Amino acid sequence: MPGLRSRHILAAGLDYIDLPSLSAAVHQCRRCPLGHSRTRAVPGVGPGDARIMIVGEAPGQNEDQQGEPFVGAAGKLLDQLLRGIGLSRGDVFITNILKCRPPGNRDPQPAEADACSPYLAQQLRLIHPEVVLVLGRHALARLLPGYDSISRLHGKVVVKDGVSYIPIYHPAAALYNSFLMGPLEQDFKAVKAHLDRVEERRQAVAAAALPVQKPEEQLTLFG
Ligand code: URA
Repeated sequence: MPGLRSRHILAAGLDYIDLPSLSAAVHQCRRCPLGHSRTRAVPGVGPGDARIMIVGEAPGQNEDQQGEPFVGAAGKLLDQLLRGIGLSRGDVFITNILKCRPPGNRDPQPAEADACSPYLAQQLRLIHPEVVLVLGRHALARLLPGYDSISRLHGKVVVKDGVSYIPIYHPAAALYNSFLMGPLEQDFKAVKAHLDRVEERRQAVAAAALPVQKPEEQLTLFG
């Protein structure tokens, strides 16, 4: 009984068991007026076990038509910046604060972001990324409310609930204001430095967990 099931899921606080169920619900969503004006909903793309999640603002015209986040000019820049630090789209889960396009690409309204927020909260719970790249001031305001402005916080690591959030300038802002391109590239260098530190720590922990071999065991191993 699909009607009953969706009521049950809503009553449980949008507690979807996996990303495909969550995406299916986003495609049906009418929790705010954007659900009626969109062409296609844009739940997000990427592996369910991604260690890195990228959260932007809202779908634009290209995303609204294709149903995929960051496929326009800002997306091309994002791909290029990811490549610059040795990552590709396939390595990261990409989504937005809003899953539907605001008409004319206007700023997200608080009521829209409130209506959409359970989806992002659930994506964070399901994917459980180690690092979240927070793109621009709107994503920053939702994910790290009460923290500093993007101009002060960009490129810095903020640890919240065991997850490292790194606010960075939004690629669309850098395309619009070329003076932000240098800082955005620096932000990606900060992201790379953080990922390298995480990897070094992981290797040190793995090495420390290896059983120490006794000399006679080593002799047996090597003849
Ligand atoms: N495309 C998206 O999907 N999100 C943005 O924030 C901007 C462009």
